[in-house]
Amino acid sequence: MLKSLPEYEVLAEQAHGHLCAGQILGLRMALYGVKLLGLEDPAGADRKRLVTYVEIDRCATDAIPIVTGCRLGKRALKFRDFGKVAATFCDLRDQRAVRLVARESSKQRAREMYPELASKNQQQMCAYRQLPDDDLFGAQWVRVAIGPEDLPGYKAPRVMCAECGEGINFKREVTRGGRVLCRACAGERYYQPL
Ligand SMILES: [Zn+2]
Ligand SMILES: [Zn+2]
Repeated sequence: MLKSLPEYEVLAEQAHGHLCAGQILGLRMALYGVKLLGLEDPAGADRKRLVTYVEIDRCATDAIPIVTGCRLGKRALKFRDFGKVAATFCDLRDQRAVRLVARESSKQRAREMYPELASKNQQQMCAYRQLPDDDLFGAQWVRVAIGPEDLPGYKAPRVMCAECGEGINFKREVTRGGRVLCRACAGERYYQPL
């Protein structure tokens, strides 16, 4: 079952190392996402229904799995590095998805609501606990095509890269000139061997 925001804050602080405005924003975003999808127990009974895409590698992203239970290692959390405080919550059972984006105006709202607080982080923490969902986030119903190879629980034979010999899972191999290669050997390498 869903917990209260203060209960989630305790868990988020433990997982993230500190409590910050981004944590509260991430918790609120995840709570709003599962509410719009009508999921009452995302991390429990409904845990196989939900896949979440996050669009930034900052504080808010760490808070989202606290509510949703969607984790990278379970293949239920997907990272698309768009540099936006946004996330898309996908209900696999009912084939529905909603994308939420943090409104730019919420920082200004926080300043107006709590001018007496010295730090922006304090202002935002207080405001992000209070503001209605709709003031914090824009919401858009979307369609997300999730291929079978991207779903949790997908099984496929491991193949070996013809160049480096490393094993490749989940159909991430590519074929170049008749050879089966990993994405690194096919030109997407983000590191240079020394
Ligand atoms: Zn933080
Ligand atoms: Zn390779």
